Amino acid sequence: MTDIETALEDLRERGLYRRMRMISGPQGPRVLLDGKPVLLLCSNNYLGLADHPRVREAAAEASMRYGAGAGASRLVSGTMRIHRRLEERLAEFKGCERALLFGSGYLANLGVIQALARPGEVVFSDALNHASIVDGCRLAGAECFVYQHADLEHLAWGLEQAEGRGSLIVTDGVFSMDGDIAPLEGIVELAREHDVRVMVDDAHGTGTHGPEGRGSVAAAGMEDEVDVLVGTLSKSLGSYGAYVCCERRIAKYLVNTARTLIFSTALPPPAVAAGMAALELLREEPRRVDKLQRNSAVLREALAERGLPAPPGITPIVPLVIGDAETAMAATERALGRGVFAQAIRPPTVPAGTSRLRLTVMASHTKAELREAAATIAAAVPAKARKAAARYALNTRPAADPGRVFDHLADAA
Ligand SMILES: *Cc1c(COP(=O)(O)O)cnc(C)c1O
Repeated sequence: MTDIETALEDLRERGLYRRMRMISGPQGPRVLLDGKPVLLLCSNNYLGLADHPRVREAAAEASMRYGAGAGASRLVSGTMRIHRRLEERLAEFKGCERALLFGSGYLANLGVIQALARPGEVVFSDALNHASIVDGCRLAGAECFVYQHADLEHLAWGLEQAEGRGSLIVTDGVFSMDGDIAPLEGIVELAREHDVRVMVDDAHGTGTHGPEGRGSVAAAGMEDEVDVLVGTLSKSLGSYGAYVCCERRIAKYLVNTARTLIFSTALPPPAVAAGMAALELLREEPRRVDKLQRNSAVLREALAERGLPAPPGITPIVPLVIGDAETAMAATERALGRGVFAQAIRPPTVPAGTSRLRLTVMASHTKAELREAAATIAAAVPAKARKAAARYALNTRPAADPGRVFDHLADAA
């Protein structure tokens, strides 16, 4: 047991120890956190749909009609009418031939990357991609070239080096911890040039931007160019689960090869129904997306007025990059003491030296709440850290040291 105690002690000493906090009641703009009322500024329930009455009712009704669980994997007896119906609606929404449900975004990324990148081939992955993509690359056993964040020149260089062994470029559509958007046009162009596929993980794109909230790929007009689009039901759509959009042929291939689809139980009917109701609400009321974007602008402006600018952006993810893990954690605790919950994000979730408060807005926040939050957070961040955040905001894409670009694979170990 001493090895575990030593490891925990080590995490504590480095300011990286984590624990779970507990929310009572549903996920709204205000919650009870460990028994205390706070304004919530770190949930991915962007459109406030997780506790929408229609979403809740849909889950309850599906539970009464189809039961609590799917009982088996998709390929055995777990594919129910409700799964197929949501897949059809997602395909129509995203403008693809086929959508395929997976258990979660994490499972989708693991399964798809492993299916599309084989040993001996090379996957090209953005340095700030989500951990589930990193793990997918590791599991695939393919060689992985990690290009500097959103750096098309570096990606082009890597593609040249691979000398025809390239199979897949994979990128977040909206980067989960930075909120910026991938340069999809340039990526697609390079992919065509080098004959490799493109996979976009748009977990934070759906419901946050693009025409009718259809996400980064639709925003770039690249629906026909991106080979695989991964989306989740767990963020803007307020439920749980994920889907992969692709052409029919790739879908058939994934059904036969994606191990996380084959060897894991199908999504529970209530989660499917909740995601479907949320998708309906998004389509009926795209104003929610406009409200979300306005809220993002309100928070960004209020923070800048208080000397705490975030990098420019339109998504609900507003990062205040402080640098040091302990300083970021202390700011979280101080803000909590004043009723605002803004979780510090530390390595290995983000690269060393870029610990941050990752603020997220919801469409259900009021402007007054966001201004109040900005004031509280600005007061909770010490002057020196405010300066560091401002510096990062002005230069959001610092040239990385090429020798360090493989670090995020090592960090995830
Ligand atoms: C949250 C997230 C995932 C994982 O999705 P889950 O459904 O929560 O497993 C994958 N990729 C990105 C970019 C994410 O932000």
